[in-house]
Amino acid sequence: MPRLLISLFLTLMLAACATVPAPQDGAPAERTVLLVSIDGFRADYLDRGLTPVLSKLAADGVRAKAMRPSFPTVTFPNHYTLVTGLRPDEHGIVNNTMIDPAIPGDVFRLSDRKVLADPRWWNGGEPIWVTAAKAGLPTATLFWPGSEVEIRGHRPGTWLPYDQEMPYAKRVDTVLGWLDRPQGQQPRFITLYFESVDTEGHNGGPDSPAVNKALGDVDAALGQLVQGLAARKLDTRIDLIIVSDHGMAATSDTRAIDLDTFVDRTSVRVAWMSRPYVALEPSPAFTDAQAARLLKRHERFECWKKENIPARLKFGKHPRVPPIFCLADSGWVFTSSSRPERYPLTGGTHGYDTADPDMNGLFVAHGPSFRRGGSLPAFDNVDVHPLMMHLLGLGDGAKGAVPDTVRPALAR
Ligand code: AMP
Ligand code: ZN
Ligand code: ZN
Repeated sequence: MPRLLISLFLTLMLAACATVPAPQDGAPAERTVLLVSIDGFRADYLDRGLTPVLSKLAADGVRAKAMRPSFPTVTFPNHYTLVTGLRPDEHGIVNNTMIDPAIPGDVFRLSDRKVLADPRWWNGGEPIWVTAAKAGLPTATLFWPGSEVEIRGHRPGTWLPYDQEMPYAKRVDTVLGWLDRPQGQQPRFITLYFESVDTEGHNGGPDSPAVNKALGDVDAALGQLVQGLAARKLDTRIDLIIVSDHGMAATSDTRAIDLDTFVDRTSVRVAWMSRPYVALEPSPAFTDAQAARLLKRHERFECWKKENIPARLKFGKHPRVPPIFCLADSGWVFTSSSRPERYPLTGGTHGYDTADPDMNGLFVAHGPSFRRGGSLPAFDNVDVHPLMMHLLGLGDGAKGAVPDTVRPALAR
């Protein structure tokens, strides 16, 4: 019997050794990228003195002055940009809510799990977990837009259905648990997501006490994560990249634009209606005179035909973008006097021009691949994907080259 146990032990040891990647001479052990998103974390929140853990990670790692989101500056388009390296106009997640003539009858919206799970919405981009899966690297996601969908034939190796009720401590424990798996089964690319900074930014505005409280809650979760990594001696192997998708601007009921004063609903259909922007579909009844009145700079907003949206927004070519697009000036909100508001206008929102500093997001990187102590000028969030591809060894060749904007973040 003891013999049997010994041979079982030896077999297990051999199996374990077989899955440990043999480091080449002098080569560092294989690294894992842990991508953390703090939804709606505006760039300057980091200077409020409320996030000691994040500030320490930034001080011991690299921090960008700001990370510029892609347009439109909302959650799903930007999360998908972060993991694909493509602009929303290219990857096709052009809004949190949208329709597509090629997917008749369905409306893409955050609350409709069934529609969100249809790959046709997502196939315009290849998220990094799909590329990793094709290369045989294990991946795991604790929430990320698109992570619940089979995209180009792949899902993350481990994923969870989005559950905004899951306590932060449990989210962090779950991720640490994945890292306790035997070598070879440990994910090499992981995501972790926190929403409360965004939620409170909407409710009370970016300067509300509730946002500050949420910053503390997220920072405590990051503290738990950092401690958990150190206790496992994983801090030498994990490259942490902590980002946000966009910032937050204060709104007020004194800065409202009534849609019904400039849109005649008998000749246009309102395709998208959100606080910062509205998209319209004209009917055949829409006259040239109406177009001339609509398509111009107004006092607090501007409307364009989609093909005339300013080039800096890199938006308007995708078939899912409706023909007419109106964007409010920062801090101004569209409303409609003909329908009751579900939420107060005073608080905060995002979705504004990428040139608005209030839309700027967060970028902090910390770990063995990064310089210890450094800062980067502001850069565009499309550059995070090629950086991660490089860290995972997926970025060889010209296409995967690390952009100059983020290259200085790397340790020499
Ligand atoms: P936004 O309307 O752009 O502010 O979107 C933020 C909201 O997106 C958050 O409050 C989350 O509840 C929601 N959200 C974030 N990730 C997901 C996801 N993976 N699935 C569904 N909803 C999500
Ligand atoms: Zn968001
Ligand atoms: Zn939001």
